[in-house]
Amino acid sequence: MKWKGRRKSSNVEDRRGSSKGKIAAGGGIIALIFIAIQLFTGGDATEILNQFQEQAPAGETRELTAEEKEVGEFTKVVLADTEDVWHQLFQQSGARYEEPGMVLFSDAVNTACGGASAAAGPFYCPADQTIYMDLRFFEELRTRFGAEGGDFAIAYVIAHEVGHHIQTILGTSGKVRQLQQNLNQRESNELSVALELQADFYAGIWAHYNREYLEGGDIQEALSAASAVGDDAIQRRTSGKVVPDAFTHGTSEQRMEWFMKGYRSGDLSRGDTFKQLAN
Ligand SMILES: [Zn+2]
Repeated sequence: MKWKGRRKSSNVEDRRGSSKGKIAAGGGIIALIFIAIQLFTGGDATEILNQFQEQAPAGETRELTAEEKEVGEFTKVVLADTEDVWHQLFQQSGARYEEPGMVLFSDAVNTACGGASAAAGPFYCPADQTIYMDLRFFEELRTRFGAEGGDFAIAYVIAHEVGHHIQTILGTSGKVRQLQQNLNQRESNELSVALELQADFYAGIWAHYNREYLEGGDIQEALSAASAVGDDAIQRRTSGKVVPDAFTHGTSEQRMEWFMKGYRSGDLSRGDTFKQLAN
């Protein structure tokens, strides 16, 4: 993505290098499942977050490497791009877009949704309307989830989390959580899937309106990331079998499909991922 020299969002707080707190978390498999949940949940990750006890940061600080600084700058440009696109789209429907915050962290972070460890990966907390990004997640995405990596994988995930912010301010997430209280696990999971796929659709919408800055291979990087984090792909890696009823985020194919639907059309009215559930 062409990003150098472009506007950076002022809504990003970089806490990397300052939080040295250690998290009392479980072994690799727990971390893996945790990552899977975090990237895709719209908000009910809160309970899981709270299971992770955060210890007070030791207060040490360290200088960020040149590479870390550059990735930080990149995320600021991506968030600024999402602000521009969503301001425009909200304006067209006579509404005002409230920008989300974004916190870059390493090791551990405190949020209005509870404490989170670095294993959390990226997530959105509706209570403080902030996206939390542990950028080392993208290394895991490549090495453990087999995604291609690249800068646009990061851009896609930020745009996906912004999608959860859109769902929060439009009231979609709240409505879904309310409905889920009276549903069984399988039905509740179906709604979670619809919410996640819609966030992928919104990420696609953002990419559509950001086309002038895309470079060859960008969409492929986004699709590769979306595919690597599909429920079926994660289940196959963690348990070796695929259990559709336990899906909460959608299959690799569905995630790529909804991202592409948004990307190709740029048409918000096509993002009703809940409609298919009514049949
Ligand atoms: Zn999500």
